[in-house]
Amino acid sequence: MSQGIVTVVGSYVTDLMSRTPHMPKVGETVLGGPFKMGPGGKGGNQAVAAARQGSAVYMVTKVGDDEFGAYARANFTKETINTQYVFVDPVEATGAALIAVDDNGDNLIVVALGACGTLTTEEVTQASQVIAKSDIVLVQLETSNEAVIATVALAKGHGVPVILNPAPYHEFPREILQDITYITPNETEACSLTGLKVDTEADALQAAKAIYVMGVPNVLITLGKKGCYYYHGGESGKLYPGFEVQALDTTGAGDAFNGGLAYALASGQALGEAIIHANAVAALSVTKVGTSPAMPTIDEVLAFKA
Ligand code: ATP
Repeated sequence: MSQGIVTVVGSYVTDLMSRTPHMPKVGETVLGGPFKMGPGGKGGNQAVAAARQGSAVYMVTKVGDDEFGAYARANFTKETINTQYVFVDPVEATGAALIAVDDNGDNLIVVALGACGTLTTEEVTQASQVIAKSDIVLVQLETSNEAVIATVALAKGHGVPVILNPAPYHEFPREILQDITYITPNETEACSLTGLKVDTEADALQAAKAIYVMGVPNVLITLGKKGCYYYHGGESGKLYPGFEVQALDTTGAGDAFNGGLAYALASGQALGEAIIHANAVAALSVTKVGTSPAMPTIDEVLAFKA
């Protein structure tokens, strides 16, 4: 079976993480550590997840003309992700996520999107030929709205299905929902999209129906360790239960799910099978610490599912 081509249009930021004994109060300096640096951003993480499954991945993003930008490119290359459309902004710095995690495991995060927040329609359009030959296009809401709109329009023009991961949620032109094939909100994002709270499977059905009416034929609401609720019209949907694992760090679970789903669909799996694969990729990712570095390989996933 062909492994397929996945184009990811989205964010890249450098994760700068430190442990802290307690969250600093305003104006307070806390001695923390250890410090860790790693590649991050929803787009980058999802690209790594798909590449480690075996997809040929093209990344469309923007970094700064700085050391973090070079670090990003080196990491993408190490993961066999094509960097032809990793643009360089001469002014903006490479994005960064400043992450503090305290002894209770609670975190505090500031994301400065920097260069990837300024991705333009023109830049995305330069990747048109790559989008045309893709089996799946994967996009999130962590870049500029104009980049998201351009991506959906180009994919539609080339007849390529789009997965929209509406994260982090903020308002965007709702018309694009009519031109995408799959949407993958978590419970909070499904609530933001619909105004309906999503706690239970019954809630997920109501929210999924509301999103379906907005024009998306395949609604996949991720429910944390409960798994993924899938709806595509009619009276009810189907819950694909999460895999039971010892969770160590759930950060990036959504990214693992989306990258795994993109790989599975691009390689020709039927949607039900693809959701099970995505649940497995995401479950394995929560057994390791970090985001991109925690993404499992295809061999790990196949051994886990066996
Ligand atoms: P995050 O913001 O932490 O990246 P998310 O809120 O976007 O994650 P979730 O709905 O929490 O996404 O999780 C996505 C998928 O990850 C779930 O559908 C499930 O397959 C898997 N998952 C999450 N948490 C667990 C867990 N504790 N055990 C097993 N699988 C999990």
